[in-house]
This record gives sequence, C-alpha cells and structure tokens, in this order.
Amino acid sequence: MALSTTPSQMSVALPTRIDGSSRSMIKVQSISFTDKSWGPPLLRLDSKSRSLDPKETPLNLFRPKEPYTATIVSVERIVGPQAPGETCHIVIDHDGNVPYWEGQSYGVIPPGENPKKPGAPHNVRLYSIASTRYGDSFDGKTASLCVRRAIYYDPETGKEDPSKAGVCSNFLCNAKPGDKVKITGPSGKVMLLPEDDPKATHIMIATGTGVAPYRGYLRRMFMENVPNFKFDGLAWLFLGVANSDSLLYDEEFAGYRKDYPENFRYDKALSREEKNKKGGKMYVQDKIEEYSDEIFKLLDNGAHIYFCGLKGMMPGIQDTLKRVAEERGESWEQKLTQLRKNKQWHVEVY
Ligand code: FAD
Repeated sequence: MALSTTPSQMSVALPTRIDGSSRSMIKVQSISFTDKSWGPPLLRLDSKSRSLDPKETPLNLFRPKEPYTATIVSVERIVGPQAPGETCHIVIDHDGNVPYWEGQSYGVIPPGENPKKPGAPHNVRLYSIASTRYGDSFDGKTASLCVRRAIYYDPETGKEDPSKAGVCSNFLCNAKPGDKVKITGPSGKVMLLPEDDPKATHIMIATGTGVAPYRGYLRRMFMENVPNFKFDGLAWLFLGVANSDSLLYDEEFAGYRKDYPENFRYDKALSREEKNKKGGKMYVQDKIEEYSDEIFKLLDNGAHIYFCGLKGMMPGIQDTLKRVAEERGESWEQKLTQLRKNKQWHVEVY
C-alpha cells in the first residue's frame, strides 16, 4: 500500500504488557503521521515502537464490581436530520488504563439504581469499540463508541414515552465532555481481527451501529501504519441503514475506497431509499445476494465473514445465504459447519 508522508512528531503512550497483572505503559517518541483530506491523520509508528504491541488479548481488566472511572471527551451526533433516531460517536478517555484490541467491547454501567434490584447499580451494557487500540487521537488513551439512542414509542399512540427510554444509551448520548463514565472490560474475542495473514479477505456485514467494530478494523488497515500489521488483502464492507442521512462514518469509508480501490469495497443498502430487484426494500441481504457468487468464491478461498448489529438481521441473511447455496447445489448447513470449524464465521448481534 502506498502511504504518503509529511511527517510531524508527537509523543504517545502505548499499552505494553496486557495480561491482567500489568497495565504498564511506555512512552513512545517519534511517531509520524500525514494528513488526509477525508479524515484524521495517518499514523506511522517508528521502529522503536515495534516491540510495544501487546502479544496477548486484553480481557476483563475491569469487572462490574470494580469498574474503571473514565472521562467523556466528546459526544457527537453523526447522523443527518432525516435519519430516523439518533446515533452518536462518543470518545472516552481511559488514560491508557483500559487497553483493548479492535473488535472488542467495553461495558458501561450507567449512573443510578437498578430498578429490578433496589440499592444496586444498573446492569452493565456492552458497546462495541469503534476505534483502534490507539484511539481516535492516536495516543492509546481513548476508546470511541458508536451509540444509538434507544427511544420507546407507545405502540398504541405512536408517541414517544420518555419514561421508558433506554437508560445507558441515553446517558451516553446526553453526556458532556468531562462527565465520568464507569466502564468494564474489554470483552469479546469473536470479533477480533485475525491478523496472521495480511493478504486475507474480510467480508464485513453490518446494520446500523453494527459498523462499530469495522470502523476499528478499517482504521487499522487503511489509516494507521503500524509495524506488525501491513494489510494488503481485501476488506469488503456491506452496511445497511435506513437512508443516506443514517449512514455512519461514510466519509471515512469513501476515503478508503478512493485511496485503496484494490483493497477496499464498500456497498450500502438504504432500506427506505432503495428498492431490491423484487421491488421491496433494499436490505443488506439483498446486497449480499447481488454479489453472492463472488462472496461464495471468497469464502471457499478462506475469507472471513463478520456479522454485527441487531439480532433481527441474522434470519434474513441466513435465509438468503441458504437459498444462494441451494441454487449453487451446495448444502448451506455443511458450508456453515465448515466455516465455523475454520474460524471464518464471526457473529456478534444484540
Ligand atoms: P435499556 O434501558 O436496557 O432498555 C432496553 C430497551 O427497552 C430500550 O429500547 C428501551 O426503550 C426499552 N424499554 C425500557 N423500558 C421499557 C418498558 N417499560 N417497556 C417496554 N420497553 C422498555 N448498542 C449500540 O448502540 N452500539 C453498539 O456498538 C452496541 N454494541 C453492542 C455489543 C454487544 C456485544 C451487545 C450485547 C450489545 C451492544 N449494544 C450496542 C446494545 C447495548 O448494549 C444496549 O443494549 C442498548 O444501548 C440499549 O441499552 P439502554 O440501557 O439504552 O436500554
């Protein structure tokens, strides 16, 4: 991959040993990066930092009984005015104490009392981390979340009922810079990005905020230049949202497609704006069907496939994959078993 350079210097702290017993940090000097017109600067780590990437997956460094108190850096609405609902990009400062890898989640404990257990705190809510391990500010001290505000509409009146609004998502979307937030984790291994083969194919399917882990992967693949992962494979993102105003991180993704057309494909399904070939709403499975021949070939050649977003996305997708497999004279059940066995199949739905 060709990376342009106009270096400038900065100092960052990166996680070193992350095995639960040690959370030490080493200051790294001489990180250079370049400006991109479409997004934050491209990170380049110098040779001194090569030994600093943790070898083990950080897991459950903070548990619900002893959460880490982090600080909100920023909360930004990232959807346009015509988007149904609100989604926010939230940057949280963990000061390097809660390191994570791309594809993991943080737990958040919203303030207040658990209505089901008086006197006890709320249950933990999980959120996929939408940044790389270095965070959006490339200093290893922040994590970003992509949170959809959960709103409740009375099914009879159709009116919003604020008393039943989602506790944690509203807490996060209403938060102000400087507010404290109790976090746990990091957790999850299913969505970790396999990095053993830099030429691998990664097919990423998302609905809505399910795009969060992929934003982390794609920044690692195309925005940062880190010593131990030089991606030169194919990343293919399928993103399903309601309409163009609901697209998430579209500018970033469009930038990768422009700069790395050989390595990145990006297909969107806008259910309320586009029609599928049968004249119905365009869902992400319709896009999968459109490219099913290529997708099946890529899977046969070892591609990883990821699914992230609302639980409801899976039945439609599975039906489509099954139908396509049958049209090809293949058994979907056997194929799925094989994909799971080969660790090519990654699902995190909620
Ligand atoms: P809650 O308070 O838990 O309420 C849940 C729902 O019930 C809401 O829709 C609420 O409006 C409704 N409700 C509340 N009271 C009533 C009532 N009396 N009657 C009927 N309905 C009611 N979410 C994201 O936005 N982004 C992510 O990246 C993300 N990643 C996740 C990753 C994982 C692995 C998992 C498991 C979940 C993830 N989630 C993510 C979902 C997230 O954890 C929360 O479930 C979500 O934010 C809702 O939590 P809440 O506290 O706002 O809602």
